[in-house]
Amino acid sequence: MKSENIQKIYQRLQERSDNVLGYPLARDFSYSEFAPFLDICVNNVGDPENLSTLAIDTKDIEMECVNFFANMLSTSTKEAWGYVTNGGTEGNLYGLYVARESFPNAMVYYSESTHYSVKKNLHLLNIPNIVIRSQDNGEMDYEDLEQTIMLRRDKPAIFFLNIGTTMTEAIDKVDEIKRIIKKYAIKDYYIHCDAAFLGTVAPFLQPKPKFDFAEGVDSISVSGHKFIGGPIPCGIVLVKRKHRDRIANSISYVGTMDTTITGSRNGLTPLFIWSFIQKHGLEGLRKRVEMALDLAAYTEKELQKIGIKAWRNPNALTVVMPKLSEALRVKHQLASEETISHVICTPGISKEKIDRLLIDIKKEQEVNNPLLVA
Ligand SMILES: *Cc1c(COP(=O)(O)O)cnc(C)c1O
Repeated sequence: MKSENIQKIYQRLQERSDNVLGYPLARDFSYSEFAPFLDICVNNVGDPENLSTLAIDTKDIEMECVNFFANMLSTSTKEAWGYVTNGGTEGNLYGLYVARESFPNAMVYYSESTHYSVKKNLHLLNIPNIVIRSQDNGEMDYEDLEQTIMLRRDKPAIFFLNIGTTMTEAIDKVDEIKRIIKKYAIKDYYIHCDAAFLGTVAPFLQPKPKFDFAEGVDSISVSGHKFIGGPIPCGIVLVKRKHRDRIANSISYVGTMDTTITGSRNGLTPLFIWSFIQKHGLEGLRKRVEMALDLAAYTEKELQKIGIKAWRNPNALTVVMPKLSEALRVKHQLASEETISHVICTPGISKEKIDRLLIDIKKEQEVNNPLLVA
């Protein structure tokens, strides 16, 4: 390819990256110091704890990332095992996979606000499942869950919980799930938390939402490219070690354990996550969360000031509003569904970007409804 073309593609992406308001992607990163690694095929094939005979890997770095996430999510690498995935979807697939291996006859319960990829994962794994109604804020309707479980007390239950739904950032309550488990004396159960966006946010919120290993959950999936941010989609999955041990097979061809979904795995993404951890650590994450919360509060308030019925779940970075026009949705890359659009206040979004959206909304209001605009 001619370098002129590469430059054009780069510019197009750079501009578009500058204008995203509706997806949970931090944009305040630079990993150009890792450019020399692009000339090496870094491959963390197989289990991160077992070196492969293919030795061009960053498994030592990957283990440090897993260790950081384990501590952040109230466990240790003694109790939990994990690896760097290709993103939240793979982590969810993994959690459901080991859940099925624990309880082959189980039923999966998840809310209608769950990420679209989960239905496909369940289909791939061929696990029977039931969709539970959501409340208006996007949280699971526990009454509906209770009525559904009541009729299936004999079956092992796999609960797939959203720690931040994609559209409204609603958090399903582990306490409610535990109440129902107890009430119906369900002995065989598994709890997976899909914390794609909030996995690196919720530990720093006050009050801290209950969702991690301290609550006895079995697995958690987090995206790496969302709140932390990075040039290549990635994530981390953590499961209780016993679940990983149940599925482990030794593979002589690569000299390691086949405990991950894919064979070859990205060896660059652990470097990015690790570099973020080195630079920012837990304190840095806490500060990022505070700044993002401030921006979300500002966005909600300013939208309301111009007559837009904006709202947020408690402590959410996602500001929900009635669906905006197609022109605005395209220009500001706003995700929308049925009747709502949202802005997600991630690190890297400035107040000025929000102000530009507000100005564009006001302009439209003037054209459409001049008499209503003050
Ligand atoms: C983004 C998201 C996913 C998918 O994660 P990827 O990293 O894009 O694979 C899953 N669940 C929720 C709630 C999400 O917001």
